Amino acid sequence: MASEEEYDFDVIVVGGGIAGGVCAYQLAKAGCDVALIERAEISGSKNLSGGVFYCSVLEDVFPHFFDEAPIERVITRNKVVFLNESSSVGLDYWDSRLAKPVNAVTVLRAHLDAWILEQCEDAGVSVVPGFKVDRLLRADGDSGAIVGVVAAGEEMRSRVVVLADGVNSFLARDAGMRDKPQSQYVGVGVKSVFRIGEQSVRDRFHLSGNEGAAYSYIGDATCGVSGGGFVYSNKDSVSVGVVVRLDALEKSQMSSSDIHDHFVNHPDVRPFIEGGELLEYGAHLVNEGGVHVARPYVSDGCIVIGDAAGFMLNTGFTIRGMDLAAQTGILAAQAIEKAIEKRDYSSAALDVYRDFYEKSWLADDMNTYAKAPDFLDSSLLYDGVGRFASEFLYSVYRHDGSPRRHIGVLIRENLKKSKVRLRDLLRLAWRGGKDI
Ligand SMILES: Cc1cc2nc3c(=O)[nH]c(=O)nc-3n(C[C@H](O)[C@H](O)[C@H](O)COP(=O)(O)OP(=O)(O)OC[C@H]3O[C@@H](n4cnc5c(N)ncnc54)[C@H](O)[C@@H]3O)c2cc1C
Repeated sequence: MASEEEYDFDVIVVGGGIAGGVCAYQLAKAGCDVALIERAEISGSKNLSGGVFYCSVLEDVFPHFFDEAPIERVITRNKVVFLNESSSVGLDYWDSRLAKPVNAVTVLRAHLDAWILEQCEDAGVSVVPGFKVDRLLRADGDSGAIVGVVAAGEEMRSRVVVLADGVNSFLARDAGMRDKPQSQYVGVGVKSVFRIGEQSVRDRFHLSGNEGAAYSYIGDATCGVSGGGFVYSNKDSVSVGVVVRLDALEKSQMSSSDIHDHFVNHPDVRPFIEGGELLEYGAHLVNEGGVHVARPYVSDGCIVIGDAAGFMLNTGFTIRGMDLAAQTGILAAQAIEKAIEKRDYSSAALDVYRDFYEKSWLADDMNTYAKAPDFLDSSLLYDGVGRFASEFLYSVYRHDGSPRRHIGVLIRENLKKSKVRLRDLLRLAWRGGKDI
């Protein structure tokens, strides 16, 4: 254990994404001496999210968040779409109540992360961009408590190190706190952003003012590979992309970029970005394991938060990682404050992070959606349901001179024609009701 005088900082936070930024800010506000080390020269420049942020989690952290943060649009329209090669069937939900109070906003990470780090600097955090932390520093050689980090050959010591270094978290793995996630618990996301102009965004998504839309797609969006596509409206641009499970991608022998290109060029998706200027293109890993991998990991002198700790929830309707990252940052900061008060940085003292987690909405949500990853792997979702729905609706709307039949008859006929069995559909609906 380092002596009290040897510490350069109370806390070193590794990673300036949402988890690290929120945690560092909370700690600085509580009077701790904090350094935040971020490998990118410009924070957030390489961070990637689809971009819908369920941001009420930040209300208490940044009371002026909605007025001051670089928000793109306030989401009032949500749509879930089953996509086939040449048809689609969707559930479109618009509700002005989603704007007051604000429920979710679209963000571009290059702007949001930079803004959060500005708030950190104003609160007194020493933000160190452009340095990659290479390894953790331990007391007593390799076996003791974590007492700091090594970046660019330089040692920096702190009472507690927070790992907020994202989904790969090599540092948590090197420290033996996490295993490499199995490929069924990891996805790969590919996203692009196209500028189409403010008025075109409003027109193409049927929006007024600063209202925004979040569309999720399943089925042909990912060429049937387990995963989904998304189209989100920003102020004057559109974020469009796919997330696919790594194990399913490997089996499909397709590349994630081919699936992305297939999605953005789909006739139901292309009109959103037609004529737009490509502003961003990137790929990133995503946690997909939910409660199977997410834990409030601690060890002597160290706490892991955000994607680094496996937090992410995909229900098919919503993708949530950013609010979970922020919440783990908040809970970890509270735990560290307590440990610093007691001058005890052991895993036993830091384990209060786990207690805070268990009592928070985050643990409830992780448990509620424990079976969502398995549900979203149901092959019927990717092929059968969308195709059956579109065949059924075609027979309802198509008037070709043949005698009309009642809807019940059309359902039975189309079920017979499709490979979907009624009992499988009912089972899927029952599972959906239970699992998501
Ligand atoms: C395609 C895609 C779509 C998504 N869509 C959504 C969505 O719509 N809504 C949502 O809420 N979530 C979404 N997510 C998930 C969300 O992006 C993440 O959950 C969130 O970014 C996690 O934040 P974080 O701070 O934990 O990690 P990150 O944002 O990954 O930040 C980690 C930071 O650590 C830095 N770092 C890494 N290693 C080191 C090191 N050794 N030294 C110093 N710095 C280091 C990185 O540069 C980075 O800045 C999506 C993800 C993807 C990939």
